[in-house]
Amino acid sequence: MARGLLQTAGINDDAVDGNILAAEGRILFQEAIKEFEAGLISDQHLELLCCKGCIMGPGMSEQGKYYNRRAHVSSYAREKLKSIDISSWKQWIRKFSNTNLSASFTPDDRRLLTPEEAEVERVLREMGKYVESDHLNCGACGYESCIDHAVAITKGLAEVEMCLPHTIEKLHDSVKDLALSNEKLSTMRQALKQSEKLAHMGQLSAGIAHELNNPLGVVIMYSNILLEECEKNDPLRGDLQLIAEQAGRCKSIVAGLLNFSRKNQVSHDFIDLRQLVRKSIESVIIPSGISIEFVDNLKDPEVMADMEQMTQVVSNLIKNSVDALGEEGVVRLKLDGDRDGEKDNVIIEVSDNGPGIPAEHLPKIFEPFFTTKSTGKGTGLGLATAYGIVKMHRGKIVVESETGNETKERGTLFRITLPRQAGQT
Ligand code: SF4
Repeated sequence: MARGLLQTAGINDDAVDGNILAAEGRILFQEAIKEFEAGLISDQHLELLCCKGCIMGPGMSEQGKYYNRRAHVSSYAREKLKSIDISSWKQWIRKFSNTNLSASFTPDDRRLLTPEEAEVERVLREMGKYVESDHLNCGACGYESCIDHAVAITKGLAEVEMCLPHTIEKLHDSVKDLALSNEKLSTMRQALKQSEKLAHMGQLSAGIAHELNNPLGVVIMYSNILLEECEKNDPLRGDLQLIAEQAGRCKSIVAGLLNFSRKNQVSHDFIDLRQLVRKSIESVIIPSGISIEFVDNLKDPEVMADMEQMTQVVSNLIKNSVDALGEEGVVRLKLDGDRDGEKDNVIIEVSDNGPGIPAEHLPKIFEPFFTTKSTGKGTGLGLATAYGIVKMHRGKIVVESETGNETKERGTLFRITLPRQAGQT
């Protein structure tokens, strides 16, 4: 207990005529040393306990009450004094009274050098303390202030991680980063799944298209020969015409399948994207109630791509927008740039303010033979082909769509990102 040692040794720590100053506890103990160092206390011996006496010190069970413990120790001492043989005790004391119990010490200064201010500042920054208001001085690290903690770190006595607010903040950041990486990973996994699915479909399509191409060519050729040989008023003529027409339609589906399955070659060349957009617009019949808006934010319109194939992609997207709008609406085209680190990309956007695509259709939108158009209106190969062509250019195509668009501001948007130089990914 505090002062227990003094009492045992019979030393007088009376406030009036004693010359002993007892201090206990983490704060008062430091205070006493600081005042002694500053010369404010003289002719005094110090009895210092960093804890509040051994009864509250390390190794003791937690949650005990200080005064209750003190009372227990006092009552133990009283009981002990009752049973002790005082005369034999005095005899022993006399016997050993001349024992030399003195100890001598030589100075061995172990103090660490006070760090430079700049060094303390650096450590404070490491702990996320840039301005005065960052200094919480909460004491959770075991030091009175953030500066004391920083000083201890520079002396190798503490670690940055002991600052609990800073460690908690870092943990929060890590959790946020992990969530972000998780989200990216799941998006990439989905994209990979979609690419795998489309690649399998591409292989299948290529096989079927290959097998169909030759017999289809024979049907087209013979139906046309027969048509030429047929008299104008022959009743078979109408049927033959239908055969030739439908076979021609099949031929274009097969061509679309081959396109989608990337059996065609891409011929990369420097092309002008503005010209590509103009050509694409011209290739689509636009009803009078539909207007076309073109925003060009590109500084340099030159890009390495296959003019013919990319025109096919863009005109296909414009045509889809026009079909979705029906009689009236707006189709917007936008060219933009996008620099992603070393990569220099161009962006082509085609959007409309039509009714939008239902959310459940979006994951299937690039699959071959998937169409939302009525029977006979579309082959379901346009977007699949566009996807294949963009992939051949090492680019990506994504779709965003909103249904139930009351304001008529936004329906569907397709965004194509292409590397400016072929070979960039
Ligand atoms: S735990 Fe951190 S904020 Fe609190 S006093 Fe220590 S260094 Fe300052």
